[in-house]
Amino acid sequence: MELKTPSQEVGTIHEIRAQTSANREAIADYFLYHFTTPETHPAEREKSAEFVELLSKINTDLKGFIESYGGSFVELGADRFLLIDFDKLPDEKKQEIRNSFPPEVDLVACYVSPVQKIVTFRDYGQDSKLRFAITLVHELMHAQAFQKVGQSTREDPRTFNEILYDNEAGQEVAVPVRYIQHGWGVQNRAREDLFWAIDEAIAEELTTRFDHQFFGNYPELAPEIAVRKDFTDCIEFTDAQLNTAGLPSIATVSFNRWQEDDGYRSEVTVEERSYKNPRAFLKHLILDIFEKHQEQFREPEEIFTLFAKTALSGDFRPVVELIRNTHGPDGFKRLGEQTNNLMEDSIEEDKAE
Ligand SMILES: [Zn+2]
Repeated sequence: MELKTPSQEVGTIHEIRAQTSANREAIADYFLYHFTTPETHPAEREKSAEFVELLSKINTDLKGFIESYGGSFVELGADRFLLIDFDKLPDEKKQEIRNSFPPEVDLVACYVSPVQKIVTFRDYGQDSKLRFAITLVHELMHAQAFQKVGQSTREDPRTFNEILYDNEAGQEVAVPVRYIQHGWGVQNRAREDLFWAIDEAIAEELTTRFDHQFFGNYPELAPEIAVRKDFTDCIEFTDAQLNTAGLPSIATVSFNRWQEDDGYRSEVTVEERSYKNPRAFLKHLILDIFEKHQEQFREPEEIFTLFAKTALSGDFRPVVELIRNTHGPDGFKRLGEQTNNLMEDSIEEDKAE
């Protein structure tokens, strides 16, 4: 199944829907302003030259990677990143940010599309450069995903802003605007994030594939990649511990050795990749589809690729058809409801049913 490659309208936005061309232009100007305007923040950390260089290498490799999954790449340079020192934020702001994340999600980073920026709360090299690079690529996957915005109404709870402009007659016009689609993410009028778990699982799984393909080539990350490889080479993983590309979900491995009165002690710390339950849910779904359509696919990874192409091209049609053929006419709608903004534990329960 061939998917069309989306073309970028402005910044990271692929498609804008509006009732008039003047309204459409006002929405485009809004995103262009945020995409091209450097912003500073009082709690911002300085970006090191090493961070800027690593980002540049990632962007070079990301272009072909995104295009291979049917996306259209847009470069987000260092000026699109805000490295925020969380401790320096005022208390109300800290609380507001904590409330905007599900409680079990580690406060690490987010891609904020309305301002066309990636915000991270960890510093580069703070504890692990590899961990930072993984977070950075995960947010870049969200930024590269297909994004469609459109004219909304004041009453629509999904409206995030009203854009003002003066029309030809000199009257002020207000255009309410909302997101229609972001990757797999679609919000219903109750502001439930349908397909949330699939969208996060795909961002993290694409990051895993990018990590294994490119991170070993970056000298900044090489020492940590070598430690991780030494560790994973010693383990016989079962199929259940590997993703559909045959990769284990271990993000970082670190060894600590210290001296105590009676001799040396050592400790190995292994950090798992994020969104464990959404990833397990996605894998379970893919294997179920594969089992029922073995004549159509050579391996489960082909189905993952189709799911990833949906996130990056915005074209839902091939997956809608596949899921309806697997789980019946209501299958796609049920999947959206089942994977909305639930806590990670609830997703595990749904899967176990
Ligand atoms: Zn994410």
